[in-house]
Amino acid sequence: MSLDAYADQRAEMVAQQVERRGLQDPRLLTVLRSLPRERFVPENLRHMAYHDQPLPIGSGQTISQPYMTALMSALLQLQGHENVLEIGTGSGYQAAVLAGLARVVHTCERHAALADQAGRILAELGCHNVTVHRGDGGLGWPAAAPYQGILVTAAAPIVPRPLLEQLAEGGRLVIPAGVRGRQMLQVWRRLGGQFNHEEIMPVFFVPLRGQFGWNEADWPVDN
Ligand code: SAH
Repeated sequence: MSLDAYADQRAEMVAQQVERRGLQDPRLLTVLRSLPRERFVPENLRHMAYHDQPLPIGSGQTISQPYMTALMSALLQLQGHENVLEIGTGSGYQAAVLAGLARVVHTCERHAALADQAGRILAELGCHNVTVHRGDGGLGWPAAAPYQGILVTAAAPIVPRPLLEQLAEGGRLVIPAGVRGRQMLQVWRRLGGQFNHEEIMPVFFVPLRGQFGWNEADWPVDN
């Protein structure tokens, strides 16, 4: 039996879902080819770990579709020297991808159960440049700012001001923004003290909660 029972599925996922759809940065492809995504999904769903879709991970949350994780990572245009912040750790898979592309990753999750589980897996896999924090990520993580890259993996009503403030000059912020069923993936840049942004494509994410997020009256369930 193969030592890595998922190797074929992983290679197939990278070739069909990522490379074929136009994401060809060799550093990104190398990271995706080496990360055991099955470790970040619940055991009973491992056979679906490389499917072209999000999957439930508990606490009403999901691990994003592999392509979406790859696309958002690519949009940050990381070179390897960056200090990066992720909001919405979830399973920890996106943080592990970023850990392979940047120098340091801070990731923030509001659900303790998810933060703990993600921290355990990241440590087991040797992702020692990732720190998992628990808290309201809409506030960013000021203690380690500024960040050359910020990635938000939950949909915000509008871009939280603290995240823009914690962005380094020349840095990029990737975030899905908008209402349920009508969200747009946006890339913000800080250049010369000004912010500009472009819209990439319509997307579907769970809601950002907390001070800068959606309240239960406007968006009751997390899916
Ligand atoms: N990046 C994740 C996908 C996570 S889904 C992965 O690779 O698996 C979005 C996550 O954002 C959920 O886990 C949700 O609990 C978290 N979240 C929502 N609002 C948040 C907030 N204000 N602060 C921190 N995390 C938040």
